[in-house]
Amino acid sequence: MNRFDPVGIGMTSRRTRERLVSRLEEQGITHPDVLDAFSATPRHIFIEEALAHRAYEDTALPIGHGQTISQPLIVALMTATLLNVPRPRILEVGTGSGYQAAILAGLCRRVFTIERIESLAGRAQERFDALSLNNVVAKTGDGYLGWPEQAPFDGILVTAAPRGIPEALLDQLDEGGRMVLPVGGGDVQELRVIDRSAGGFEETVVKQVRFVPLLKGVRGS
Ligand code: SAH
Repeated sequence: MNRFDPVGIGMTSRRTRERLVSRLEEQGITHPDVLDAFSATPRHIFIEEALAHRAYEDTALPIGHGQTISQPLIVALMTATLLNVPRPRILEVGTGSGYQAAILAGLCRRVFTIERIESLAGRAQERFDALSLNNVVAKTGDGYLGWPEQAPFDGILVTAAPRGIPEALLDQLDEGGRMVLPVGGGDVQELRVIDRSAGGFEETVVKQVRFVPLLKGVRGS
């Protein structure tokens, strides 16, 4: 810890991040803006200090309370899938460390993000402040309910798996909007894309993924 750099933004060089970006490119992520967002976002500040040396490995890591920061490849895939066209107003459900929201912040006008565990939401907010991500609006709440006061959204990204698609999130997706989410109750879920048009909803399955479950209600502490 350094008083001129309290969150350790300067701790790893841009070159380390570039190695992660090359790995993402090798794995088929081609969207240039998405790759730029990864090279601009320091993942180590979203991870506890004891694990920060592993921040640029392409792997999920624990963030406390039994939750994880997602694997960068999955964050990149979900981001690129969500942003197939520009989408100014995004809702993220499952703030966790705040990393996915920080990636989206560089690519969208406004990011609304909801986390049910109060202490994770608090820490994520400190990171948004430290990185001056003023277009991220975060709150503690139950993402099953979405964020009705801020709806509709052009895009919705869910980073924990519900058993079925939450009705409130479908309601809060604007016409022309897209939702990307894992669905399923087991260890492995389906990553699905829901596109809303005037005619209704169209659903596509992208691939199998592993996420923590989307749980109901808010947890203090
Ligand atoms: N996007 C995160 C990944 C976090 S893991 C990141 O970039 O780090 C999923 C998160 O979803 C966990 O923090 C978990 O507490 C949260 N979560 C689970 N159910 C939720 C709900 N109903 N509402 C809001 N957040 C929820």
